[in-house]
Amino acid sequence: MNTHYPLSGWANKGGTATRACSCQTWKQHWINFADQRWPAQCAVSACPNAPTLGAHVYHPDVSGEQIVPMCARCNMRTDKFSLKPGVCVVSANRSETCDARS
Ligand SMILES: [Zn+2]
Ligand SMILES: [Zn+2]
Repeated sequence: MNTHYPLSGWANKGGTATRACSCQTWKQHWINFADQRWPAQCAVSACPNAPTLGAHVYHPDVSGEQIVPMCARCNMRTDKFSLKPGVCVVSANRSETCDARS
């Protein structure tokens, strides 16, 4: 999906742990809609950890919340961070993704 987005100025969207979609997990949601494989590294710039979850993130210049592969540690960050170039950003909006397929 969208790989054209600003790299800096992203933040975690808090309070999303209980949200769900028909993909079961947000990791699976990303896998279902990204046009690339689950990456070996967390989407956060300079983080070498393996991503374990699909994190809800947002950016003031990007419409809607997005999902990126992230490690649990980065998912707890409360500051702004940058994404690695080339990481696929998948919309968290179910009406644009999983709910639109059926
Ligand atoms: Zn989904
Ligand atoms: Zn990380």
